[in-house]
Amino acid sequence: MIRADLHLHTNYSPDASIHPKTVVHQLHAHPFIKAVAITDHNTVKGFYKVKELASPYQDILVIPGIEVGAIGGDIIVLGVAELPPRPWTVESVIDFTKERDGLAVVAHPYRAPGLGDSAKNYGFDVIEVLNGISAPQANKMAENMAKTMGLPGVAGSDAHCADEMWTVYTEVQASLDIDEILKAIKKGLVKVAYARKSIHF
Ligand SMILES: [Zn+2]
Repeated sequence: MIRADLHLHTNYSPDASIHPKTVVHQLHAHPFIKAVAITDHNTVKGFYKVKELASPYQDILVIPGIEVGAIGGDIIVLGVAELPPRPWTVESVIDFTKERDGLAVVAHPYRAPGLGDSAKNYGFDVIEVLNGISAPQANKMAENMAKTMGLPGVAGSDAHCADEMWTVYTEVQASLDIDEILKAIKKGLVKVAYARKSIHF
């Protein structure tokens, strides 16, 4: 079993300040979160930088991701290290993701710019049910959406600055391997949790 923060921005996102080195050092130092999905806004450059810096460390895993600002709301693409072609409609991003065996995740559906109830009209794989910077009520509504749609729920800090990192995590019944993790998430072998109180950097 591994624990992962599945939503994190580096300074390759225009609105975030986290240096890729900080991600690697804190993940290596973290007592139990050992995997991270780098989900920068509309770019995979931050993912490649973090992956490169993490390569000397055997105890941590960097999962490719993108937070795509699709028409209608944000979508997290997990497990794919290339940008979908524009225009980013919800359908085209989901199709692109599935063709590459990635997971299409509804990002914070009930916090702008989330998709809201409209997410129910598409073939998503996963719902982000615990987002570290969403209000509890918005997370609760996302959890209900996952239940209604019968889809697995994941957690991610959505950190944009260093002190927002690792506040929540997804526990996945898998080893530290991207393929295994993606498959286990898809099967619903996941739990989400808050982590803030147990971490001191
Ligand atoms: Zn985000």
